[in-house]
Amino acid sequence: VTSIIWFRRDLRLSDNPALTAAVAAGGPVVPLFILEDATKGDNTCRDYDSGTGTACDWWLHHSLNALEGALSAQGMSLVLRRGDPEQILRQVVEETQAAAIFWNRRYEPGGIEHDRKIKQDLRLQGLTVESFNGSLLAEPWSVKTKADGPFKVFTPFWNALQRNRGQVPVQAAPRIPQHPAVRCFSERLDDWRLLPRNPDWANGFSDVWQPGEAGALDQLVTFLEKSLCHYKEGRDRPDREQVSRLSPHLRWGEISPNQIWQATLMASEKTGKSDGLRAAAWAFLRELGWRDFSYHLLYHWPSLPARNWRPEFDKFSWNQDSRAFQAWSKGNTGYPIVDAGMRQLWVSGWMHNRVRMITASFLIKDLLIDWRQGAAWFAQTLVDADIANNSASWQWVAGSGADASPFFRVFNPITQGAKFDPDGSYVRTWVPELSALPKQWIHKPWEAPAAALEEANVQLGKNYPHPIVDHATARQRALATFEAIRGDQ
Ligand code: FAD
Repeated sequence: VTSIIWFRRDLRLSDNPALTAAVAAGGPVVPLFILEDATKGDNTCRDYDSGTGTACDWWLHHSLNALEGALSAQGMSLVLRRGDPEQILRQVVEETQAAAIFWNRRYEPGGIEHDRKIKQDLRLQGLTVESFNGSLLAEPWSVKTKADGPFKVFTPFWNALQRNRGQVPVQAAPRIPQHPAVRCFSERLDDWRLLPRNPDWANGFSDVWQPGEAGALDQLVTFLEKSLCHYKEGRDRPDREQVSRLSPHLRWGEISPNQIWQATLMASEKTGKSDGLRAAAWAFLRELGWRDFSYHLLYHWPSLPARNWRPEFDKFSWNQDSRAFQAWSKGNTGYPIVDAGMRQLWVSGWMHNRVRMITASFLIKDLLIDWRQGAAWFAQTLVDADIANNSASWQWVAGSGADASPFFRVFNPITQGAKFDPDGSYVRTWVPELSALPKQWIHKPWEAPAAALEEANVQLGKNYPHPIVDHATARQRALATFEAIRGDQ
C-alpha cells in the first residue's frame, strides 16, 4: 500500500516518527507539503502575492528547498501543494491510491481542531491515519499536576516533565523505498513567492543562517563543541556567541528537541567531562523545557496569543502611539541596547534572549504599548517566530501571563546594557553611529560630555536620536497605571 507522509513543522528526515512509520508500512511513500490557507493552521504565511512576506516565509522557502534536496538524493521528490489541506489530501489520495497517511502533531489552536476533523473524515473513507509527537519533549496533556490538571508554574512542570520522559531513542533517517510508478503533480516552490522582493529586506539572512536539516545538525554540533561549556554563565551575554541559535531550526522542525536532548546529554556525559559541563548541559536543557512549557500553556489555554492570561490586565489602558511604535520597531528610541536589539532583529531575523526581554519591557512598560502589538512585530520579523514561545514570552514580560515576571519589574535599559554588554560591543555592532563612543557613555550617550560626543562624531538628535522617553518618569507612569488595575480588583 502507498502511504503519504504529510510534512508540516517537521522538515527533516531523521528522528521523524511519522516518516519512520510511513516507511515501516512497507509500500511506496509520497512526501507531501501543503502551504495552507491563512485561516487554517500555523504552516501559513501571509501576503504571498504582495511579495512582502515574513521572516518565517523566507526560512520556509529555503527549508523546503533543502528538504527537496535531501529527498532527491534518495531519488524521491517532494510534492508541493497550496490550499485547503482537506481537499488536497483527498486529491493526493486519489492520484496516488494511497491507503495510509502519517503526520506529526501540531498544537496551535486552529491546527488541532482542523487535524481532528481531517483525521475523522479520512478514517471514514477507510484510510489509515496515524499522528505522532515529532516536536516536543512530551505531549502537553501527558505532563500533569497531582490533581490531574495542567501546570501554571514552570519549575514543577519541568520536574514532572523530567520524571515522565524516560529514554526516547533517536531514529536515524530511514531509507525511503523508491517506487517510480507512483507519480503525483507538484507545484513549483518559486511560484509560491515566499521570498521578499521590492525591497528584499532579507538579503542579509543568508550570511547568518543555513536553513534545513543539515544546517540544523551543523549548528548543534558546533554549539556542543564550542559553546555548551560556557552556556550557563554566557547565555545572558548578547555580546558573546554562547547560545545555540537553534530556535529557527526548531521552529520548522529541522531538528527534534529529542535529538538535541540526547546529543547534549551525550556530550556532557563523555568520560572525563566536568561537573561544570553537566551543569551547563542542564541549564541548556532547561531552556528546551521552557519551550515545552509554552506549548503546555498554549494547549491548555488556547487564547494565549490573543488574550491576557490574567484577566485583570484586560482593564489596562494601553497607549495608541504609532510614532513611538515606529521608533521602537526601527531601533530609533535613543536607548542604545533597545535600538541594537531591534536592528539585530531587522537585519538578521533573530535577537538574543536577554535583549528580547529588554526591548519587550521597553515597549510595554516605558511606552505603555500593548504587548500584542510587539508580539505581532516579532511574529513578522523573527525567523524563529513561534506562536507558543512568542505569546508566552510576551505575556511573561508584560506580567499578564502564567508564571510571569511581575509587572512592577521594569527593565532599566541603561543598567541592563552595562551589566550584559559591559564593553558595549553588542551596541557598537548594531548601532554603528555610536561605535566610537567610550564605554562609560555607550549605554547613555545623552549623559556624555559634549567633547566626548564630538570626538565620537555623535550628534544627538541628528545622527542618533535623543531618548524618546525619560526612563525614570516612564517607569513611574507604568507603575501608576498598573496600580490602577490592581486597585480595581
Ligand atoms: P538557546 O538559549 O540556545 O535555547 C535553546 C532553545 O530553547 C531555543 O532554541 C528555544 O527553542 C528554547 N528556549 C530558549 N529560551 C526560551 C524561552 N525563554 N522560552 C521558550 N523557549 C526557549 N523563542 C522562539 O523560539 N520563538 C519566538 O517567537 C520567541 N519570541 C520571544 C519573545 C520574547 C519577548 C522573549 C523574551 C523571548 C522569546 N523567545 C522566542 C524565547 C527565546 O528568546 C528564544 O527561544 C531564544 O532567544 C532563541 O535563541 P537560541 O536558540 O540561541 O536559544
